[in-house]
Amino acid sequence: MIVVDKIDDVRKIVKKQKSQGMSIGLVPTMGYLHEGHLSLVKKAKENSDFVCASIFVNPIQFGPNEDYDKYPRDVKRDVKLLEENGCDLVFIPSVEEMYPNERLTTVSVSKITNKLCGAYRPGHFVGVCTVVTKLFNIFTPDIAVFGQKDAQQVAVIKKMVDDLNIPVKIIKAPIVREKDGLALSSRNIYLDADERKAALVLSKSLKEAKIMLEKGEKNASLIINIVKEVLKQEPLCEIQYVSCVHPDTLEDLTTIDDRALIALACYIGKTRLIDNLLWGEDI
Ligand code: AMP
Repeated sequence: MIVVDKIDDVRKIVKKQKSQGMSIGLVPTMGYLHEGHLSLVKKAKENSDFVCASIFVNPIQFGPNEDYDKYPRDVKRDVKLLEENGCDLVFIPSVEEMYPNERLTTVSVSKITNKLCGAYRPGHFVGVCTVVTKLFNIFTPDIAVFGQKDAQQVAVIKKMVDDLNIPVKIIKAPIVREKDGLALSSRNIYLDADERKAALVLSKSLKEAKIMLEKGEKNASLIINIVKEVLKQEPLCEIQYVSCVHPDTLEDLTTIDDRALIALACYIGKTRLIDNLLWGEDI
């Protein structure tokens, strides 16, 4: 596996691969990798010839009171995991490499970024869209893989790619969970033993929603209520939001006709966790 930290080196290598007829797959990450990230690498391998990952804790997608400084990092371990999982190139730029001078240009997707997580993390999606656009311009990938764990991110990136005619196919990968149901997240490391137990309530609440949907429930408010009821049973859990929306437009649903996204964010102690259930769609 090739490890690079300079944009020019990525461009040279990608150009060479493309000249040999190879298609390029990209998996953007912030590192501290787990099986969720590695499932994206696997999916990229299934859908492209030369698989690239990036590891960059992107400062501009963190709010002033968020966890940029303490975000977990272990690049040595990440490189080993990527290599073992058949990644061909990893790009690990410095902040200066990605943002060398005063930034006057950002990429902003309106409307669908004002709800769900976007409503509570102002500026977050401008940061995400800006860095992902930069990565798309650096790698010019044929495909890029994003996890359904960050459901709003997938919807926003898809819209951005569509609106701006960026020639890349966005592929979604399903949420990878621990055996007990907790969605894998680099931030799970923040949880102490009691909080780790309490965090199970997120997936438990979505399981209840799934049971209701399987029984034929179509009323979105009832689904939201059952999820909230389950979450409220856990004293360490503080709900930020529970929403039932269309998976692409993120418009609130009143009736669930076919596809729906039940998305939630909660604090478990000081740690903000997200989870979701995608209904009516196989990925
Ligand atoms: P992050 O490093 O948290 O920015 O995540 C990088 C990519 O991995 C994003 O596309 C995430 O949606 C995806 N990802 C994170 N956790 C999971 C998970 N548990 N299952 C599947 N994909 C995930």
